[in-house]
Amino acid sequence: MIRTALARPTSKLPRAGTTIFTVMSKLAQECGAINLSQGFPDFPIDPKLSDLVNAAMKAGHNQYAPMPGLPALREAIASKVERLYGFNYDPDTEVTVTAGGTQAIFTALGAVVQSGDEVIIVDPAYDCYAPTVELFGGVPVHVRLGNDMKFDTDAVKAAINPRTRMLMINTPHNPAGTILRDADMRRIAEMLRGTDIILLSDEVYEHLVFDGERHASAINYPELRERAFVIFSFGKVFHATGWKMGYALAPKELMAEFRKVHQFNVFSVNTPIQHALAAYMREPTNYEDVPAFYQAKRDRFAAGMMNSRFNLLLCEGSYFQTADYSAISNEGDLDFATRVTKEFGVATIPLSPFYKDPPTDLRLLRFCFAKQDATLDAAIEKLCRI
Ligand code: GLN
Repeated sequence: MIRTALARPTSKLPRAGTTIFTVMSKLAQECGAINLSQGFPDFPIDPKLSDLVNAAMKAGHNQYAPMPGLPALREAIASKVERLYGFNYDPDTEVTVTAGGTQAIFTALGAVVQSGDEVIIVDPAYDCYAPTVELFGGVPVHVRLGNDMKFDTDAVKAAINPRTRMLMINTPHNPAGTILRDADMRRIAEMLRGTDIILLSDEVYEHLVFDGERHASAINYPELRERAFVIFSFGKVFHATGWKMGYALAPKELMAEFRKVHQFNVFSVNTPIQHALAAYMREPTNYEDVPAFYQAKRDRFAAGMMNSRFNLLLCEGSYFQTADYSAISNEGDLDFATRVTKEFGVATIPLSPFYKDPPTDLRLLRFCFAKQDATLDAAIEKLCRI
C-alpha cells in the first residue's frame, strides 16, 4: 500500500502551547488542589438571573438571535453605559453582543489588523492578545508595565511609529491587578492625537475597581472613544464566566467592520441568555455592589496572606492578587506554581506566560480571589505552610 504524505499544516502559531489557564485548572483537578488559578467564581449566580434564562427558554426564545445581538439587550447595554460613562452609543450601529471578551478581542483584531501592521501590547498582557495579532498577520510590539506594575506612558509612546495600527490597553489589568487613572488616559489621548491608531480598550473588569477609585473608561474620553473598540464581559459582573457573554462598543465605522467579521465568526450568540441579561442588567442594584463585594474578598485574602512568606503586590482592581515568592524560592514561576499545586494543594497562575520575554528574575504568581470565603480561608491556610 502506498502511503501518501500526511496533511500537516505549517503552524500559524508555532510558539503557542495550551493556555496556562487550561494547564493549571487541569493540574488543580488532577491533584485535588484548591483552584485559585483560572479566574472564575466558585459561588452560584443570582437565582433571579437563572430564573430569567429558564423563563426565556420556556417562552420559546431558542432560535438564532439577530446577528449583532438582541435589540433589547443592545438597548439595555447602551443605557447602562450612558448611566456609568455619560455617553450614548447607538444600539443599532455601535453595540455588538459577543461570545465573551476574548471573542470580541479576536473579532476586533480580525477586523482591522492587516499584514505587517504593528500592534502595541503592554506586558504582562492577557495571553490571547499577541497570538491573535499574529494570526491576522500583524506584528505584536511588546512594551512593559513600569514600576509597581503601573502603566508606563513613556514606554508606550516610544513604541509608536508610522506602522502602528493599534494600541491595546487593559484596565483593571489582568494579570497585574493595577488600574489606569485619569492622568494615564489623558496621556494616552495625547500620544494618539493626530495619528490613525485604533485603540482597543479591554475593560472586562470594569466593576472590579477598589478603594473608592472610579473606573477610567476609554468611553469617558471623547478623543479615545472615537478611535476605540471597548470590550466588556457579562461573566465578570454577574459571576457567570461559563456563559461566555460579552459585548463590544465602537463608533459606527469601526463597528461596521467588526460586524463583518463577527457574522462569519459566531454569527450571533446565545438567545435565551440575551433575553435574561436584557432584563437583569436594567436594574443597577444587580451590579452596584460588585466592587464592595470583591474588595472584601481582596482584603480577606490579603489579611490571611500576611502570615505567609509571600509578598503581595498592589491590587487596585480585577479579581486577581499577584504575589512575589522570592522570599520562599528561587525556582522559575512555572516550576514553583506546579510544585505548590502538587505539594501544597493550591493552584495559581505563574506570570511568565504573559510576557514575550519574561524577566529572568520574575518570581510572581497570580491568585484569583473570586472565591467563597471558606475556599479563600482554606487556601490561605495551605499557602501559609509554604
Ligand atoms: N480570564 C480568565 C483568567 O484570566 C481565563 C479565561 C480563560 O481560561 N480563557 O484567568
